[in-house]
Amino acid sequence: MYDENNIFAKIIRGEIPCKKIYEDENCLFFHDINPAAKIHVLGIPKTKNIDFTDFVLNNNSKNVFAFFEKINFVIEMLGITKDGYRLISNSGKNGGQEVPHFHIHILGGEKLNSKL
Ligand code: AMP
Repeated sequence: MYDENNIFAKIIRGEIPCKKIYEDENCLFFHDINPAAKIHVLGIPKTKNIDFTDFVLNNNSKNVFAFFEKINFVIEMLGITKDGYRLISNSGKNGGQEVPHFHIHILGGEKLNSKL
């Protein structure tokens, strides 16, 4: 069950500040508070979904695709398309997910070492 009080839900509601990069009525992109690379941005849809599977299964394909298009829009905004980047979405216990609101990590701005 979705936890209305997770950190990202509070960020969406404006109860906790974030270093915002892009926002519209459907999604929000902001800098990770503990960056793992020179550029580390988090992208979240505003729908109440716990992880990737929940997001894909419980939204229509138009909205799922629109979120992925927006991720690409932000990647281009960040200017990291040419040199490359990494997208990660952790899910559950084995995936090491800390915040139970579906999010995509966008990492780049330098050569990333580990494949994981
Ligand atoms: P995950 O392990 O995939 O759930 O990642 C959660 C991410 O959220 C981590 O990289 C944290 O550094 C990041 N994070 C936690 N709290 C905040 C916050 N208030 N603002 C920005 N990023 C955060």
